[in-house]
Amino acid sequence: MAAVVVSLGNLSGAGSVRFILLAVLLFVCELLPITIRRKGEQDEIIASTTFAYAIVLTFGGALAVVAQLGASIVADVVHRKPPWKVAFNAAQYTISITICAGELAFLGLTPGAGRLTGEHMPAMLLGAMAFFVSNVVITGVGLALAQNEPIVRYLARDLAFQAVTDGILLALAPVVVVVADQTLWLVPALVLPLAGVYRSARISLENLQLVEKLEDSLSNLTELNRQNEHMALHDGLTGLPNRILFRDRVHQAVLRAKRSDGIVAVMLIDLDRFKEINDTLGHHNGDILLQQVGPRLRHVLRESDTIARLGGDEFALLLPEVSGATEARDIAGRIRRTLENPFPVGEVTLDVEASVGIALYPVHGSDVDVMLQRADQAMYVAKSNREGSRVYAPRDDQYDPARLALLGQLRRAIDEGQLTMHFQPKADLRTGNVQSVEALMRWLHPQRGLVLPREFIPFAEHTTLIRPLTHYAVSAALAQVRAWRDAGIHLRVAVNLSVRNLLDAGLPAEIAMLLRHWQLPADVLELEITESVLMAEPTRALRVLAELNELGVGLSLDDFGTGYSSLAYLRQLPVDEIKIDRSFVTNMLREPSDAKIVRSTIDLARNLGLRVVAEGVEDEATWERLTALECDVAQGFYLSPPIHPTDLTRWWVDRPGAAEGHDLNDSPSDDPKPPLHVAGPRRR
Ligand code: C2E
Ligand code: CA
Ligand code: CA
Repeated sequence: MAAVVVSLGNLSGAGSVRFILLAVLLFVCELLPITIRRKGEQDEIIASTTFAYAIVLTFGGALAVVAQLGASIVADVVHRKPPWKVAFNAAQYTISITICAGELAFLGLTPGAGRLTGEHMPAMLLGAMAFFVSNVVITGVGLALAQNEPIVRYLARDLAFQAVTDGILLALAPVVVVVADQTLWLVPALVLPLAGVYRSARISLENLQLVEKLEDSLSNLTELNRQNEHMALHDGLTGLPNRILFRDRVHQAVLRAKRSDGIVAVMLIDLDRFKEINDTLGHHNGDILLQQVGPRLRHVLRESDTIARLGGDEFALLLPEVSGATEARDIAGRIRRTLENPFPVGEVTLDVEASVGIALYPVHGSDVDVMLQRADQAMYVAKSNREGSRVYAPRDDQYDPARLALLGQLRRAIDEGQLTMHFQPKADLRTGNVQSVEALMRWLHPQRGLVLPREFIPFAEHTTLIRPLTHYAVSAALAQVRAWRDAGIHLRVAVNLSVRNLLDAGLPAEIAMLLRHWQLPADVLELEITESVLMAEPTRALRVLAELNELGVGLSLDDFGTGYSSLAYLRQLPVDEIKIDRSFVTNMLREPSDAKIVRSTIDLARNLGLRVVAEGVEDEATWERLTALECDVAQGFYLSPPIHPTDLTRWWVDRPGAAEGHDLNDSPSDDPKPPLHVAGPRRR
């Protein structure tokens, strides 16, 4: 302790020029730390150590502490270090300098006692080491504690670096002392090597930063390229491969299959009714649905299979290895089943059906475009035949171009009077009376002859053409009712509406106008609607339906059992009638499950107080069964197919029990059996 006190010496040299010079240099060095890059982080070397030790050697510890403390505090404040750090640095310097000065005193080196010579070397060395060790230990312990790191590991990590830098700085101190002894003017010159170190550190730091920046922008560029490439090859909405990538993969798969004699399957999937969902629920919800398709398909496919979105609601699959058409068909079946599970979209769940078209390498071609085109044709045939999935067959070829051509000719067909309405009677099952007919559209194409609605209505529904089509259907049906009335035949007429029609707020006014035009009461008209639109977006459609209901027009729920059928929705609908879909009725005597659906639909209608119609009655046995089940009305080939109005008038006049008059309401038949069939073309 005594040695320490002695070694600190006194403050008497404070006024000397030599001290002031050394202290100023110390200040400068403290204020201008040399920033370097080490292990990826910025670090600082503070060259003030040289001058601090020089002051210890010349004036003793006390003045060194004063100078160093002053410099350190000022620098720390200037550099906005937190108060604890300022205090820590101050304490650390005080202790290090005190220990160093104590060591020198202990070794008999009195500050300013004379010239430094070779014999002082060991003492100076040990003094420097004391400075260094205490400095490193205090800083290391402090920082390790602050950063919650094991002390030994922290010290070990930095030791070599510190030893070299501090070693150089401390070794310069005796040189400073000796030079200052000779002439003060040379002392600032000693700053030059330090400035050199400073400069080269700066430059290498800048270079390093430049390299880092370059590396950064390079990796940004690579990432951007990767993203661009991804974007170019993937669909933005679903993240699935797009058409470009899909084509490439098909091409590769075909090349591989050529070598291994394998079979490749390309499938196109089209979501039936997606358009409807998009129109009624909005694009946003349509998108949500589309995003769920890929993950679903993934579950039923192999890792090596590709799922792509080609656009809209069209998805494509590549199965690079299948055993043949049977396996492809099986997979298509699995795909359809997985898509049949309802999709949650917002607050509703949507049922989606899919049509799948399949083309195989090598039988259907080896060229990507040919395969895609053939899968597309098969898909369209599957869709229009409601087949679900279909492997391409050469006769499918006629569909694609023909479909487009037909659509193109449809508008002209309306204007040029190529469309006509056929009528199919509906009979009361208890009395056999016919009070109503369904109007079904037919197109008498100048080249192709009779074209059935399934070949153009589903496509027209996707375009604005459906409006003039519906306008024509209602107008033509009412014109016919007018003509029948004028001939004393009192029949109501049912016209089919498309989903899109019910989103058209102008429809009720249009229909009211047509009723006025043909001078008919509203109750001669029934409109057949399907459930889908009501499930998807009830509000808008319900408003239109309510207005139609107010007009006094009858409303009938068509194809019941195939759509979203839900009792909750049914209750909201202002309908008077339910039509059990013909797919259940036609097979009800052979399929117990169909019979069950028919029976429970009749019960349901009964409970809701609605009239129930069975469509697709093809034979007497079914007619009898429905009568026993107390179904209200029947429609089907057994009674009559849809026929030309002239044929229907003849049928009407010739029907049994028609003698008393034309109005069936006035002539209830005693015979509950249906009237005889019309002599006319039967569609089956
Ligand atoms: P839909 O409304 O379900 O019409 C009943 C369909 O079943 C008619 O086919 C009819 O010919 C057929 N059909 C009737 N009885 C039987 C039977 O006993 N057995 C079988 N297998 N089928 C029977 P069609 O005329 O080819 O019409 C097909 C669909 O086209 C209609 O189905 C309807 O959705 C649509 N459609 C027809 N005309 C129009 C129209 O003017 N406007 C709109 N929007 N759609 C129409
Ligand atoms: Ca119908
Ligand atoms: Ca129907």
